Amino acid sequence: MSKKSLYEMAVEQFNRAASLMDLEPDIAEVLRRPKRVLIVEFPVRMDDGHIEVFTGYRVQHNIARGPAKGGIRYHPDTNLDEVKALAFWMTWKTAVMNLPFGGGKGGVRVDPKKLSRGELERLSRRYFSEIQIIIGPHNDIPAPDVNTNADVMAWYMDTYSMNVGYTALGVVTGKPVDLGGSKGREEATGRGVKVCAGLSMDVMGIDPKKATVAVQGFGNVGQYAALLISQELGSKVVAVSDSKGGVYNPEGFDVEELIRYKLEEGTVSTYPKGEKISNEELLELDVDVLVPAALENAIHEGNAEKIKAKIVVEGANGPTTPEADEILNRRGVLVVPDILANAGGVTVSYFEWVQDLQEFFWDLDQIRTALEKMMKEAFSEVMKTKNKYSTDMRTAAYILAIDRVAYATRKRGIYP
Ligand code: NAD
Repeated sequence: MSKKSLYEMAVEQFNRAASLMDLEPDIAEVLRRPKRVLIVEFPVRMDDGHIEVFTGYRVQHNIARGPAKGGIRYHPDTNLDEVKALAFWMTWKTAVMNLPFGGGKGGVRVDPKKLSRGELERLSRRYFSEIQIIIGPHNDIPAPDVNTNADVMAWYMDTYSMNVGYTALGVVTGKPVDLGGSKGREEATGRGVKVCAGLSMDVMGIDPKKATVAVQGFGNVGQYAALLISQELGSKVVAVSDSKGGVYNPEGFDVEELIRYKLEEGTVSTYPKGEKISNEELLELDVDVLVPAALENAIHEGNAEKIKAKIVVEGANGPTTPEADEILNRRGVLVVPDILANAGGVTVSYFEWVQDLQEFFWDLDQIRTALEKMMKEAFSEVMKTKNKYSTDMRTAAYILAIDRVAYATRKRGIYP
């Protein structure tokens, strides 16, 4: 496993691209650093009457192209390094997609499973009030991430609205569909993964109808990716897994049935129509496409040599360490990087924000069509950059994104 911190890992990816594109060192220094880091310590009244103090973060990595954009996670291990890395990735993700946003991320150090609903609501409202000094529909627009959801976004939106005195739908995305949310947001990241899987199979000369696919992680991203890859590309999903383990069937699964099973049983690892496998075994299966859609660092220097897939589509953020990346590139595996592959979510978040500002809502077909078009455009731009610089797709995606943010920085100039 890599000993580097997540932020160091992220900066290493940036540095590789910056040196290949000959980025001016002073611009590189501006782009590497987070613009604003806010740490808040805030009290919450617990159900038994005592007060607990929690630590929260909001990092705005870059706002050269528009307001900061990025989720908020609740996790006992969340720390500043992690939030900085995630905010950093958001800057490049929004730029690869050519969205008029910068990058941000937030987090609260808490195990939300230990809170009652009332405690969770009070914590969410107080945290959002604390970070409100840098938040707003034109400043910084949060969204859900690990352990936060549409209900939490509704509390955030209401808290902000109460504080400013009017309803501001556009202050967060990922809200309930009937409260300023967007249709198609739930499936958006999986749909983007599907588009990237299809396009990369074209690049590698693989017929999607004959292709086999393994998906690690069977949550929001993994489920929709598996479903749409099987239904819309006609590929066989032969393995899936979650934190409890995986299941393999060379004949392919009925993904809808698998999703129902996961909902009822809480895991896919006991699904009877296949052979039990571990998460490590899933990654090393002889498949055409591997979709890591669980956590960071799934593919590392210890297992990268054993990956047999021809294509890796990164549904998760940071699933491949820089060491593993080098090994996969040397072995000719096409790795579609996270900042492109899982950008479907932030793209539909952008649509949600636009709809909120206009107070005019789109239908599902419109959203799917616009998302697929933007994913295809971004994929094609990354491939063009890859060919121009004779490099891997991750470095190409960074070059494309860095070029756009660097342009905005130069054009705007350094104030004063
Ligand atoms: P989720 O919580 O819905 O699902 C995560 C899944 O991973 C669960 O099935 C869980 O059991 C499984 N998992 C956890 N540990 C595992 C392990 N060690 N091995 C195998 N499986 C494991 O989360 P999600 O929203 O699907 O997010 C997954 C990843 O995608 C994260 O890295 C997230 O940051 C990234 N991502 C999500 C979105 C989005 O829109 N949801 C957008 C961009 C990126």
